[in-house]
Amino acid sequence: MGDSLLGQDTRPLEPSGQSRNVRHATCVIVGRGPAGAMLGLLLAREGVDMLVLEKHGDFLRDFRGDTIHPSTMEIMDELGLADRLLSLPQTRASRLRFRTPRGSATLADFRDLETRFPYLTFMPQWNFLDFVTEEARRYPNFELVMNAEVRELIEEDGVIRGVRYETPDGTREARAPLTVAADGRGSLVRKQAGLRVVATAPPIDVLCFQISRREGDPEEPTGYIGGGRFVVLINRGDYWQVGYVLPKGADQRVRAAGLESFRRSVGEAVPEVADRTDEIQDWDQVKLLSVQVDRLRRWYRPGLLCIGDAAHAMSPVGGVGINLAIQDAVAAANALAEPLRAGRAELRYLRAVQLRRELPIRILQGLQSLVHRRIVAPAVGGGGIPSPPLPMKALLRPRVVRYLPARIIAFGIWPVHVK
Ligand SMILES: Cc1cc2nc3c(=O)[nH]c(=O)nc-3n(C[C@H](O)[C@H](O)[C@H](O)COP(=O)(O)OP(=O)(O)OC[C@H]3O[C@@H](n4cnc5c(N)ncnc54)[C@H](O)[C@@H]3O)c2cc1C
Repeated sequence: MGDSLLGQDTRPLEPSGQSRNVRHATCVIVGRGPAGAMLGLLLAREGVDMLVLEKHGDFLRDFRGDTIHPSTMEIMDELGLADRLLSLPQTRASRLRFRTPRGSATLADFRDLETRFPYLTFMPQWNFLDFVTEEARRYPNFELVMNAEVRELIEEDGVIRGVRYETPDGTREARAPLTVAADGRGSLVRKQAGLRVVATAPPIDVLCFQISRREGDPEEPTGYIGGGRFVVLINRGDYWQVGYVLPKGADQRVRAAGLESFRRSVGEAVPEVADRTDEIQDWDQVKLLSVQVDRLRRWYRPGLLCIGDAAHAMSPVGGVGINLAIQDAVAAANALAEPLRAGRAELRYLRAVQLRRELPIRILQGLQSLVHRRIVAPAVGGGGIPSPPLPMKALLRPRVVRYLPARIIAFGIWPVHVK
């Protein structure tokens, strides 16, 4: 399919006499997670006629990624929004720590980074999404429809022309020169588009739950490793968000062993919270995050682009998923704003987005896979973390080497900036 085919879609955006059930826009985004919300804002401020469709009626999403990294803060700063965002309730971490029976150590220290924001910010994802959407709503050319579940792609002559979606008032169509799939790791759109997925087999899953924080508890996010367990605690103000890592597929076995056994295991892994594990009263409080890592071979088709988890589901290792989704949105806006203003979305612009983002994503997925295999899986498999050989320890000592994990977690690889 040549580039020109899409460029020829010069039908009027708001044709007179169009059906009440058909909305024409220049760009339709499916999904209003971090990727969709940010792309909606960026293109709206560039004057593109935007329609964002979100299947949920609210943004409450327990146990979703809540980490805003320096790369995202710098983007917010470039948009003039950082100070207002930082006025919302949040917690911050300048270091990531881990503890083993042999002692504790710093995994990443953000204080040495050259940035206005040398820390991770933890904020409920729904607050962040509300903030971004409120900002986008200042532009008359931005529309968000909640309770709008996309069911089907509209394809004509091999080109995606938009979507059909369900609302409480019935089925609707949205048509546009460009449809963006930002519908997350279970993306219906990428499946319907027939885009090929390269999947990997991560060896872990995570059980997520909350437990209260009390005075005297540590402040910093900490990973507890030992006794065949790997448990991560993130400070969320008055509670801890807890991630209890387990071997892939072990969820049913853990549940079958009973709540009491699970509570005991959490208390043994994290002695600081052993006095309050009885807050876990029901398995409904404990959600399974089935870890999935994959990527699309090609992120686009004529009329369609995938970004965020829809293009590459990330492991929770490093908490980079939201931040990479936002980087994709910035890369997409940088490449597409100008052609979209002219009502066009030729393949070369879609290809440019993948070219800009694919290598950083592949490198990060490779690093996550290394951490899975070398650290997390042995830790939960009972073998403990292999101690690095002496020469390796010496290599790890210089500051520049310790700086690397902080740099990669904070900015990823080759970060994108607002044009
Ligand atoms: C338990 C858990 C913990 C995580 N922890 C972290 C973390 O600490 N830090 C971090 O950076 N990342 C974390 N992640 C990953 C992070 O949440 C994702 O990488 C990030 O949210 C991806 O953003 P996205 O916009 O691509 O997709 P999503 O956030 O998945 O958003 C997709 C949106 O599309 C909507 N949607 C789906 N299908 C349709 C449809 N058919 N029609 C309309 N709308 C639709 C969904 O309702 C959703 O709002 C975590 C993920 C999970 C599951």
